Amino acid sequence: MAIACLSLIVLPMASVRAQASGPIYIVKEGDTLWGIAQVFGTDAETLASNNGLTPNSTIFPGMSLVIPGFEGVEGELQTLDVAFGDTLDSLGLRYGVETAALARINRVVNPSRLYLGQPVIIPVTAETPRALPSSLAVQSAAGEGIVQVAVRTGLNPWLVRAFTSPSEALWTIPQELILLAGTARKTNALPATLDAIEVSPAPAVQGHTLEVRASIPGPVWLEGQLGDRALNFHSVDDTHLVALQGIHALLEPGLYDLELRGYTGQGGELVWSFRQPVRVVSGGYPFDPVLSVPPETIDPDYTGPEDQLIASIINQVTGERLWSEAFAFPGTYTDSFASRFGSRRNYNGTGYDYYHSGLDFYGGTGTPILAPAPGRVVLAELLKVRGNTTIIDHGWGIFTAYLHQSELQVTVGDRVETGQIIGLVGGTGRVTGPHLHWEVWVGGVPVDPIEWAEGAFP
Ligand SMILES: [Zn+2]
Repeated sequence: MAIACLSLIVLPMASVRAQASGPIYIVKEGDTLWGIAQVFGTDAETLASNNGLTPNSTIFPGMSLVIPGFEGVEGELQTLDVAFGDTLDSLGLRYGVETAALARINRVVNPSRLYLGQPVIIPVTAETPRALPSSLAVQSAAGEGIVQVAVRTGLNPWLVRAFTSPSEALWTIPQELILLAGTARKTNALPATLDAIEVSPAPAVQGHTLEVRASIPGPVWLEGQLGDRALNFHSVDDTHLVALQGIHALLEPGLYDLELRGYTGQGGELVWSFRQPVRVVSGGYPFDPVLSVPPETIDPDYTGPEDQLIASIINQVTGERLWSEAFAFPGTYTDSFASRFGSRRNYNGTGYDYYHSGLDFYGGTGTPILAPAPGRVVLAELLKVRGNTTIIDHGWGIFTAYLHQSELQVTVGDRVETGQIIGLVGGTGRVTGPHLHWEVWVGGVPVDPIEWAEGAFP
């Protein structure tokens, strides 16, 4: 009897305290007071004392902590990762939080520069997400644009834009009654013709493949740009477009704009565009010891023409996708490798300006080289630096290359199948000993071949 009465008294008191002094955070597995304080811009001492604890107190999953410093904000603080098309305005609209409050909670200095995958803290209440009106009727005056109409009607400019998407041309006709019907009820900056755009991985990684996948309920075509690279979209099926793009192994880590442009169809009219930064992080590649090579083999006059020949081939994009599964390894001994992709290289002590652009296999002269996936041979000849070289086009801008061979066993134009012998390992070209050097190129950029063997793209 006494125990029952006690619990009746304690529970309401705990919840009153949580509501009175700010938003709460529910402790997750592995959390520490110090870590939670870091996320919410406070310190462990303040967080602890605000909750009647000390910095050394034990916290456990499921425990509620009141987070100091967010007066006027209520609800449970949850984190979500920014998706393509999310802006601070659209997140505020979706979760019923003032944009300014979101900016303050997240210490966002530049609201227009939320990057893909950025963790954003959202206060979630019982009313979240806020219901959107199903339709709005707005009459524009002469010369009014979206912002003016939004100001006059007290609507969030982003909301007005979302409901009139995709064409702003509607606003150029004065005195037109515009019915903002519920067909465009989206709480991100994507138009009605795009359900979602997934970018993976986020952040992008040096020397790895970035996949941009769009879900399209209706006729739409996409073009795009990541940094200075044009993206090539292809249809996977009736409702999905995919672009694959390699991130250069030497690209400086940082933020790079991903710009997507939507068209009414392939070769159609431009109806929408959006730009969001993507974070590129280091691939964590090691630095190899300085290598000594004959000086002329790193002389641009010597290597340049050959590099240009390779570039002219691997920058082409054929529309037909010839592969459908993860790539097989072209060489033998696939549980250890003579040299991995990405390691930084310094030739003759001139600086770490180079990197290893492929994967080296053990296995000496005469070992068979097998095609890793279906494709078409687009180069098979003896080159000065690369030696006997074969390049296979797998479609969609995906190419594989096989260097230093002792013998070529295919010719340009041949269609090859997975497991077919295309040549023999050798030591031709700029090498210190016979081996197979295998490269995978994605959108004109070499990537770590192992990721193409470990899983299927797209
Ligand atoms: Zn190599």
